[in-house]
Amino acid sequence: MTEVREEVLERISRRIEKVRRAILEACEKCGRSPNEVTLVAVTKTVDLERIRAAIRSGARVFGENYVQEAREKISAITEPVEWHFIGHLQRNKAKYVVRLFDVVETVDNIKLAAELQKRAEGIKKIQPVLVQVNVSGEKSKAGISPENLPELLKFISKNTSLEFRGLMTLPPYFEDPEQARPYFRRLRELRDQMAERFPSLTFRDLSMGMSGDFEVAIEEGATIIRVGTAIFGKRPA
Ligand SMILES: *Cc1c(COP(=O)(O)O)cnc(C)c1O
Repeated sequence: MTEVREEVLERISRRIEKVRRAILEACEKCGRSPNEVTLVAVTKTVDLERIRAAIRSGARVFGENYVQEAREKISAITEPVEWHFIGHLQRNKAKYVVRLFDVVETVDNIKLAAELQKRAEGIKKIQPVLVQVNVSGEKSKAGISPENLPELLKFISKNTSLEFRGLMTLPPYFEDPEQARPYFRRLRELRDQMAERFPSLTFRDLSMGMSGDFEVAIEEGATIIRVGTAIFGKRPA
């Protein structure tokens, strides 16, 4: 077992407590149960010591953006934690992702879904996936457009090695988290429309909200929040 320095453990543990309290308060405010909200600790650029400190502080689900970086961490962490892929996924990385990750949150096109299906089938795995939606229409953002979402959902519903879990989004960055609210609301409304249109799919998760705006996302129905900075501190630029 690798060492975790006392001051690191204390710092990470204090921050996780603070995030958990904020989750609780956001849930109380809107009458939801905190059990409905999964905290994904985002560990891009975060070293193993801080990841281990987070595990010792009760974190059980982690998010990574890059396959190469994640591969080393996932093999080094022996505790039974869950790993979510939350970065932009290139098709040629699909074969690694299905071996490494419990959930892929960023499926945003049919060719990628087809490749994941093929690779999951190849290792006899049912791969849980979320579909990333670009609700803001920003050109710089990944995610499928709301217009093209039905076609992708239809494709996924026919692929037996993919287990559809729900929708994910990454709104534009705002200083004021209230400004992100319309985007979170839009994802929830899309979920409601799609659930009606695709009764064979289970829309379990809404992955939305990060360090700066997860309280607002919870009020709008988030079941997964992805929090990095508020737990691990600022990332190097
Ligand atoms: C980095 C990242 C996060 C975490 O962002 P913070 O602001 O550090 O909480 C969440 N989701 C995605 C997709 C990310 O890339």
